[in-house]
Amino acid sequence: MSSTSTSSGATRPFDVRDPESLVAYTQTLDCIHCGLCLATCPTYELTGVESSSPRGRIHLVRGRMEGRLEPGERYGEELSFCLMCRRCESVCPAGVHFGALMEAARDEELRRVPPAPMVRALRWVGFSVLLPHRPALRVVGVLARFAEWSGLRSIGERLFAARWPWLRHAPAVPPLAEQRPLPERGAPAAGVEERGPLVLLEGCVAQVLTGRANRAVFDSLVQLGFEVHVPPSVVCCGSLHAHNGDLEGARNLAKQLIADFEAAAPLDAPVVISSAGCGSHLRELAPLFAPDDPWQRRAAALSARVRDYSEVVVGPLEALRPQAPDLGSVAYDDPCHLCHGQKVREAPRRVLDSLRGLERRELDDPEACCGAAGLYTLLRPADSAAVFAPRLADFERSGAKVLVTANPGCQLQWQAGLAPSGRSVLHLAEVVQAAVAGPLYSQAAELR
Ligand code: SF4
Ligand code: SF4
Repeated sequence: MSSTSTSSGATRPFDVRDPESLVAYTQTLDCIHCGLCLATCPTYELTGVESSSPRGRIHLVRGRMEGRLEPGERYGEELSFCLMCRRCESVCPAGVHFGALMEAARDEELRRVPPAPMVRALRWVGFSVLLPHRPALRVVGVLARFAEWSGLRSIGERLFAARWPWLRHAPAVPPLAEQRPLPERGAPAAGVEERGPLVLLEGCVAQVLTGRANRAVFDSLVQLGFEVHVPPSVVCCGSLHAHNGDLEGARNLAKQLIADFEAAAPLDAPVVISSAGCGSHLRELAPLFAPDDPWQRRAAALSARVRDYSEVVVGPLEALRPQAPDLGSVAYDDPCHLCHGQKVREAPRRVLDSLRGLERRELDDPEACCGAAGLYTLLRPADSAAVFAPRLADFERSGAKVLVTANPGCQLQWQAGLAPSGRSVLHLAEVVQAAVAGPLYSQAAELR
């Protein structure tokens, strides 16, 4: 392999001593070029161009890693165009871990060709100041709610959206009552069978933007007889860092999170996650660390405890079969990181089917990406909308009244898409909470 190192390192081949680069490169070698993934890829569907397909991106990453491909807009564009939905993984006969490949490739590229100073500053504020610190998130939540309530947000959109289009696509910020942190502990409800302790990940952005769903997770677990612990020191799992090319940041947060969960009583209790992206990241934490790093073993131990919310409640609900809330018909949308990342497909459907009187309709293509994809809606709003359009049409065809999903990002995307028609979007936990404790929080006068 020739070494054509430049001062920027732009065209040099990857360094085999660099674990991130090695992960990306070895993943590219697994591809057998069969092309089965092309038909599943939303970006390939939009462009019809090979380089926007999983196989095409693998080819580009390999060329870049071998020093055969000059840096340039095309390469960076294809890395950021990918939604990292991982649908390609679900059909790949060679078992290419496309998510890990893209995370490593994005990280590699950002270190080789650092972004402009303004972008670097924004990334630092977002990834290092806001996401890991609950007080900072809280301040942003209060300010954003004030901007929404006072009309400053609409003025800001009118004045600055031409320069910063993401302003128009930032999600609506709920009232402060919905942003309140969860209690640190919830005792099992009286009169129900006790089902043992659980540790709940409250999350970072989710607490601010989808606090109602968070509270429904907590309350429904308590109502079903679980003893729920919410470690207050645990904030961000680092999944957004990993997806956006900051593996060092993800690694640092992972260490903090592992230590916090190890310190949180009760040890070895299942760790319940109601955000598909976070759950997927935490189930695959070990590869962030080198095999000889003691953190790898600790990461694997935490991953083994991770359960999606639906997996935890499905058993008790099938035994209880509570009456469903009066929602009419519902359709379930599979979050990509739940079905393709965690391979959890049946449990959420069984949860809905366990509720007496609920009519569940199947979407034609429930595992297709809705275009939310972490920060994708903000970073690439036009592409996000184009990916979302067929999903909206799919929901219309289903004739369902309510869309149910199991990931905060997807919930916000669907809420924005269905708002004009006035139809509801609920997290799975909100439906369960209404069945076991009722009424729906969205119909209640205030949160308890
Ligand atoms: S992760 Fe999704 S968008 Fe990216 S290449 Fe795979 S199928 Fe296409
Ligand atoms: S399905 Fe897998 S092996 Fe086939 S082209 Fe796509 S990534 Fe390569």
